[in-house]
Amino acid sequence: MRFDVAIVGLGPGADDLLAPRAAAVLACATDVVGYNAYVARVPARAGQHRHATDNREELLRARHALTLASEGRRVAIVSSGDAGVFAMASAVFEAMEHGNPVWRSLDVEIVPGISAMFAAAARIGAPLGHDFCAISLSDNLKPWETVLARLRAAAEAGFVIALYNPSSRARPWQLAAAFEMLRTILPQSTEIAMARCVSAPDERIEIGTLADVDPSRADMRTVVLIGTAATRRITRPDGKVWLYSPRGSAA
Ligand code: SAH
Repeated sequence: MRFDVAIVGLGPGADDLLAPRAAAVLACATDVVGYNAYVARVPARAGQHRHATDNREELLRARHALTLASEGRRVAIVSSGDAGVFAMASAVFEAMEHGNPVWRSLDVEIVPGISAMFAAAARIGAPLGHDFCAISLSDNLKPWETVLARLRAAAEAGFVIALYNPSSRARPWQLAAAFEMLRTILPQSTEIAMARCVSAPDERIEIGTLADVDPSRADMRTVVLIGTAATRRITRPDGKVWLYSPRGSAA
């Protein structure tokens, strides 16, 4: 296995949803770099250096990783889910584009991971079965007007929407505002699933409609899936439901 830098998606949480390739890369890295909670998910190995940070400075972390790699270390940079989805992979390339030219000759491997929307969809049925998109509701890195405009365009165009970063202590009101805007575009009966801590012991999945959804049920460990007018519900004898979005749909 040859790499100077490996950018690794750890999946949604469960050990058996981590790709075997990711496990192999993590086992031969000399250094692991990432946000605390994600580094903690990497099995400890004697001699391996762990650089866990609790700040959200992704670019600083990426530069640190590239610096270590250019000094001859074999560095794994970890993210939850897939590292290319609202995570470290783009920070690494941004740092590379603007940083030390030597970084461009590093051997980089990117190992895909199961993103939260796919793990959540697999619990719920097939809600992403027709055209869909992923939007981060966080306005830390883009203006709130841009978030709302993209959400509006996606709903008007008939995409199922996976909403990442729906809510946090620092951003408590955005999800309610997003639902309020969506109520002016989508039917009140539109199916909405809130999937929290998917594949972890404290997993919680709640399914409702745009009319009755309670935004306070979402937090920073929740992904919200918003159906289209075509998304269907199947109720099972025990009252639990499946959601699916048919492949063929005009809505
Ligand atoms: N790279 C990650 C996303 C990082 S952004 C991925 O591909 O999944 C962080 C957001 O991801 C959280 O706010 C939440 O919306 C979502 N998320 C990550 N893990 C999750 C899980 N196990 N269950 C539900 N949502 C999750």
